[in-house]
Amino acid sequence: MSQGEPSIFSLIIDGQLPCHKVYEDDSVFAFLDINPCSTGHTLVVPKEQATTLDQLSDESAAAIGTVLPRISRAILEVTGATDFNVLQNNGEAAFQSVFHVHFHIIPKHEDGSGLAWPFITTQLDPEEGKTLAESIRKLLG
Ligand code: 5GP
Repeated sequence: MSQGEPSIFSLIIDGQLPCHKVYEDDSVFAFLDINPCSTGHTLVVPKEQATTLDQLSDESAAAIGTVLPRISRAILEVTGATDFNVLQNNGEAAFQSVFHVHFHIIPKHEDGSGLAWPFITTQLDPEEGKTLAESIRKLLG
């Protein structure tokens, strides 16, 4: 997708491509994922076509943050799941394949369907943690 060209999600939001819509307001659009990890897997997308989360405006971020819990509750009620993951990928190396910010809501069902947890973890070095947190805090004011 070149700069300025509508993303596949913008085409869906504009009604130029079909989807199974579950929610829409002035700033947010949500629909079922075409390749669900589990029943109820939903994508929540800001209408603003930012590529990654760090590029999203505060207004769109607030709008998404407001509706994520509500949409999650509706998905849980309809699917009967009680557990779920919210996943948000940014950049190719971080598994993003559609370059328009989106949040996945993925119910975890009793049959095991849903998200697996493959992440490799390490131990936080206390000195490194101190320096890192200080640097981030400084930028955030
Ligand atoms: P990402 O890997 O970028 O975090 O996730 C992109 C998601 O968008 C994938 O789960 C994929 O199945 C979904 N997706 C891609 N194209 C379409 C489409 O045309 N319609 C719908 N409903 N979902 C799509």
